[in-house]
Amino acid sequence: MDLRKISLATLPGVGPKRLESLKSLGIENVYDLLFYFPFRYEDMEAKSLNDATDQEKILLKGVVASDPVVFRFGYKKNRLNVRILVENESVMVTFFNQPWLKDKFETGSEVAIYGKWNENRRSLTGIKVIDVNSDDSIDSVYSVNKNIHQKTLINLIKLAFEKYHQQIETVIPDFLREKYKLLNDEQIVEGIHFPKTADQSDEARRSAKFREFFLFQCGLQSIKLEDSQKNIGINEEYDQEFINKFVNELPFQLTKAQNRVVKEILDDMSSKHHMNRLLQGDVGSGKTIVSVIAMLASVTAGYQAAIMAPTEILAQQHFDKISKLLSPLKIRTALLTGSQTKKEHDFITQDIANGKTNVIVGTHALIQAGVDYKDLGLIVIDEQHRFGVNQRKAMRQKGNNPDVLAMTATPIPRTLAITTYGDMDVSRIDQLPAGRKKIETYWIRSQKIQQMYQFVAKELSTGAQVYVVTPLISESEKIDLKNAELIYDKFTELFGQKYKIGLLHGQMPNDQKESVMNDFSNKEIDVLVSTTVIEVGVDVPNASVMVIYDANRFGLSQLHQLRGRVGRGEKQSYCILIADPKNEAALERMKILTSTNDGFVLAEEDLKMRGAGDLLGNRQSGLPEFKVGNPINDINILEVAQEEAKNLFEDKKLMNSSKTEVLRSFIKDEFDQLNNFD
Ligand code: ADP
Ligand code: MG
Repeated sequence: MDLRKISLATLPGVGPKRLESLKSLGIENVYDLLFYFPFRYEDMEAKSLNDATDQEKILLKGVVASDPVVFRFGYKKNRLNVRILVENESVMVTFFNQPWLKDKFETGSEVAIYGKWNENRRSLTGIKVIDVNSDDSIDSVYSVNKNIHQKTLINLIKLAFEKYHQQIETVIPDFLREKYKLLNDEQIVEGIHFPKTADQSDEARRSAKFREFFLFQCGLQSIKLEDSQKNIGINEEYDQEFINKFVNELPFQLTKAQNRVVKEILDDMSSKHHMNRLLQGDVGSGKTIVSVIAMLASVTAGYQAAIMAPTEILAQQHFDKISKLLSPLKIRTALLTGSQTKKEHDFITQDIANGKTNVIVGTHALIQAGVDYKDLGLIVIDEQHRFGVNQRKAMRQKGNNPDVLAMTATPIPRTLAITTYGDMDVSRIDQLPAGRKKIETYWIRSQKIQQMYQFVAKELSTGAQVYVVTPLISESEKIDLKNAELIYDKFTELFGQKYKIGLLHGQMPNDQKESVMNDFSNKEIDVLVSTTVIEVGVDVPNASVMVIYDANRFGLSQLHQLRGRVGRGEKQSYCILIADPKNEAALERMKILTSTNDGFVLAEEDLKMRGAGDLLGNRQSGLPEFKVGNPINDINILEVAQEEAKNLFEDKKLMNSSKTEVLRSFIKDEFDQLNNFD
């Protein structure tokens, strides 16, 4: 029986009001209720006092040593004190505002109390009194709201389970459950809501995680399948000879990895399928040129191509490089950003709409209303992790289902590759251009800042260019600016006689930013003091020293991005982190960073330390919200689930057999639920 179609009103005591409050928790039918899992358990196994840690919630068993006393204080406030003898130690237990508990304590009788342990005072703040004879050793704790009590919810779940447990259908096909020793859905529901032991709940949770991940992966597979069956993509027949010529005339040879991904991308673009591809390559691996080749291909096939960057500085830089590369080929490139005048804007968008412009470089201005394309064939999204899910979607909706190439320097940890990007194909540049030297990273505390000045002096004397970056510390950009200005003054004082010092920050007008960046590129500026506006993408190969102030305030990925601004040329590069870490995590970040240059290792660490939402900037990370599984900690289960979902979708006969009937009816529902994040 499909419990998703059974109303909660079939349970005793559930009327319109209760239906309403259940709905406020997202519970709309019997299935929802049974699969509304507790978010944690309170372990009701009694603990020895020697094992208890401060502030830990424990179950304490002992004998009442004195009559309880209730003290009243303030208006309606009171405190109940009772001494309990536990393992020969007299422990004071205090309950606040529950005077009626007095009757539960009879001198000499046995009690069990659940509460919070205070190690210093060796006392317990009581939460509740447990029936000593009960065999409920674990309590499930549900997330509820003001409309419904824990108790009410638990009772309803019990009622539903009693009434319907035989009708709970099992989603995971038997052959998979046998292979991975998974419980059926009835056992899962029972084990998660009403475990007798911690082992039983662990076992049920393991099965529930697989079930959840597997359904999600099946959802992704079905989207992919649908996409490929539609054949709705643009078939871009590009001019291979033209491309070859362009590649051969580049000032450098493409790396093997670049050649490989170029082929993957072009094959995809010229196929009938819609391309939805992620290009991943560590900072400095040379993604830009790969995207230029793809855009060129699109243009030779008679389409327009666009590239969207997260900052104006980066868009400007891309525009400079791309137009230089493409203008000799008679390809028209335009830059579109939010800070252009209305006149400029109108002029540019007109040529985009009538197709005179072939390649469009810009910021999110590219996706604003009023920007229409004549015939957009390819969209490149640079540093795509900096864009929200909605912006990526808006970009895809421009034009007539154009191919999409999303690029990122932040390596995608396995977790995200499987979940958030599960519907995308991935190309990886796993190699840096030849001749690159490993960036040497040092961490110093601010009291040793003199060493940094000496080091910078030495490097400047060899012709190096230096970035000096200071973080956005306060909410106020003005104060941050002052911080950057102070550092600028200091560097001017120390090095201004011999070298040119520049300042760059977000509040400068655009043309000024542009001219500072240009001066740095052309080596007219030796030291560039900057806020994090240069964080992503900026490419000045001659710069070889990166100094980062207050490095403890940056996350790992951001530090890696910043460090990636150097090490782009032949010169030995250095990164100096100035940091006085105030906690373990910050200290750990400094250690990891000085020990590895591997962006992939860093991204995995970052994800573990900060959680996925943070890594990607906001809750719009696109990481689906699983109920039982944690895609980071349970990555192994997630991977197996993905593998099995893929296998199953490839086996058409099995997929259409009765063995997967229940599964099929669930795939769509479950997936829609998980994906309602944007
Ligand atoms: P990212 O992948 O971080 O976006 P870029 O595309 O900015 O890296 O490339 C970094 C630098 O390496 C640029 O100066 C670019 O011109 C250069 N570059 C790219 N590919 C090669 C190559 N195959 N050989 C030498 N230099 C290259
Ligand atoms: Mg880049």
